[in-house]
Formats: sequence, C-alpha cells, structure tokens
Amino acid sequence: MDGYIGIIVIVALVAVLAVGGLFLLFRPKAKDLPSVQTPPEAPAPEVGERAAPGLGEQDGGTTTTLPPPAEELVKAPEIEVPPPSAGRMVRLRSRLARSQNVLGRGLLELLSRDRLDDDVWDEIEETLITADVGVAPTRVMVEELRTKVKVLGSRSPQDVRRLLRDELLAQIGPELDRTLHTEAPGRPAVVLVVGVNGTGKTTTSGKLARALVGDGKKVVLGAADTFRAAATDQLQTWGDRVGAGVVRGPEGGDPASVAFDAVAKGIADAADTVIIDTAGRLHTKTGLMDELGKVKRVIEKKAMVDEVLLVLDATTGQNGMRQAQVFAEVVNVTGIALTKLDGTAKGGIVISVQRELGVPVKLVGLGEGPDDLAPFDPEVFVDALIGD
Ligand code: GDP
Repeated sequence: MDGYIGIIVIVALVAVLAVGGLFLLFRPKAKDLPSVQTPPEAPAPEVGERAAPGLGEQDGGTTTTLPPPAEELVKAPEIEVPPPSAGRMVRLRSRLARSQNVLGRGLLELLSRDRLDDDVWDEIEETLITADVGVAPTRVMVEELRTKVKVLGSRSPQDVRRLLRDELLAQIGPELDRTLHTEAPGRPAVVLVVGVNGTGKTTTSGKLARALVGDGKKVVLGAADTFRAAATDQLQTWGDRVGAGVVRGPEGGDPASVAFDAVAKGIADAADTVIIDTAGRLHTKTGLMDELGKVKRVIEKKAMVDEVLLVLDATTGQNGMRQAQVFAEVVNVTGIALTKLDGTAKGGIVISVQRELGVPVKLVGLGEGPDDLAPFDPEVFVDALIGD
C-alpha cells in the first residue's frame, strides 16, 4: 500500500514538473500580447522653448530666461476712433456724380431749352425712367413740371433750377421722418438688418456700428447670418476695429439663438444699440418668413425690435425692388438703407423705392470705405444732383 502511495506521489511530482517546464518553454513573449495603445510621448522641450502650463497649472518657475511666446509679440489690434455721422452726406456728395449727370444735368439741360415741345417732354420722361424714378412718379413729375413751366412763362436758368429742385424734393418727401431708431430708454435699441445677400447687408451693419461708435455710442453686433462663415468673420472684423462686441454662433447654427444672445449681451453690457445682421437667403417666401419671424419673436423675449432696416442695392433696379418687396411683406420694414449709390446713374431709385415700399430711405451707401455710409438728407441729395 505504502509502495503504491510512493509511486503515485512520484508520478504526480514528475507531471507537475513536466507541465511547469512546458509552460516556461512556450510562455507568450511580450510582443505576442495584444498591445494597449499609448499616446506618443510629447517631445521634450528644446532649450529656449517653454512648455505651456496646462489649465490650472502653475508655470514651473524655470531659471532660464525664455523669449515670450509668439502671440505675445503680436501687437493687440488698435481700436480706431471713427468720425461722427453728422455731415457725411455733404462730404460724400461728389460720389453722386453719375446720378448727377443723368438726373441733374440732363434734366436741367432739357428744361432750359427754348422750346419745350412734346419731343422734349418725352425726353424728360425717358430720362426720369432711365434714372429709375419709376413709371407712376415720372408721370406725376412730368405733369407738374409742365404746369409749372406754363405758369412761369419765360424761364431764367435760376427759375429752371428752382423748379427742378422743388419738384425732386417734393417727390422725395423732405417731411418724412428719417430718424434711425438706435436709442431706447433704459435698454439697448435693437436694429434688425435684412435684405438679399450681396446687397451690402453685412457691410452696412459694420459701417453703421462704426458710425454709432463715432457718435459716442456703445454697440453690440450680432452675426445671425450663420449660413455664411465669411459674413460672420467680416462682422467680427468690423466690430474689432472699433471695439464693438460681436456675438457669433457656430456655422449653420440657429440664427434666432445668436440674435437672442446678442441682445442679452447688449443688455448685460448696458450697450446703446444692438445691430443684428441676418441671412438673406431668398429660398421661398414662407422659408424666409419663418426664419425672420422666428428671429424677431425670439429677440422680443428680451427687448423690442426698434428698427428693421432693409438693405437695397441701388444698382439692381427693378429686380432688386421686387426682392425687396418680398422682405417688406415678411417683416415690418421701418427704414431703407440704399447702398452703392456711388456706382449708379439711377439715383431716382430713392423716389421709387419709398413709393413702392411706403418706407423712407434712412441711410445711403456711397462707397466701399468704412465711413462711406451717411444718414440720408434729401436736400443735400437734390443739391448734389442739380448743383447749387
Ligand atoms: P451682403 O451679402 O448683403 O452682406 O453684402 P456685403 O456686405 O458682403 O457687400 C457686398 C459687396 O458690396 C462688398 O464688396 C461691399 O464692399 C460692397 N458694398 C456695400 N456697400 C457699398 C456701397 O455703398 N458702395 C459700394 N461701391 N460698394 C458697396
């Protein structure tokens, strides 16, 4: 019995040793094990380079003097002090030269002719139509000019000038209230800028912010045209140049939420004016209505919208006018910013757009320079057209 037990113990020992030996012989090598990915080690900072401290970390207090990081060497952008808006139209009146040639000089020359027969009146009518005065206002003007010329009898050059000046002014409406509502008691005024892409909406928003800063106002800009990254960056640049805060959202983000945040910032910063640049995609009328309607509703949770400024490119004629009409049907437009008047002979659009939309022109764009936006002054405009 004892002999059997001894044999079993010896066999068991041999078996254990054999299994152990086999394991040692065939154990997996490190490279055969599935590897765990470790991030590559950051290269050790070179001499003269400073490892940036992480968030909440203290800089280790190295003893070597190191050059400042590149961003510290870049000078902070200088904040410009723009000129005030008053008197700008006088300064920019020479920019109306092209309209002056057609509407001003052209009409003066025709009206000064000795004999004003039907052919001349047809030419006068054509001149007004060509300058985009619009069919109905042209008829009214021709009728009134005819009557006044008859009453006048003989016409001195001064008489003709006065006649034309009075008539153009009457059509433009010097009595219309052109106040841009950029102030509100106890809160920032909100200006919503709408219009078709390419009309100069973003530029006008930036120029307006600049002009208001020039007038001593504190301005916040809202980049609610989230569909175009370029528009947001453009607005940021305008804001940075004059120290106006810019609220922007992610590309393709909700325009209404950007508008809301901009108004909230305006209130928090005790700003005078919040200007919101919107997207001008004319996809469908209902799409546009939904988009702008939502922006306006969401803003109104915070503050009233004081001004809805429709931007219209003066060079686009009837086509531009039709598009502007769609906007006017969708939102309650309170003022028109007529851009690119410097590049057109069609200054008569001031008359037709006011008549078509029933809203006064409040601002005019007279160039691509940052200060080439002016409050619209009917008398300066007419005098620029026909010469003093
Ligand atoms: P948006 O798409 O409506 O926002 O249009 P932008 O603001 O980007 O302007 C389109 C182009 O029109 C730019 O090149 C502007 O410089 C130009 N622009 C805007 N206003 C005027 C203006 O009054 N006169 C001239 N000549 N160009 C203007």
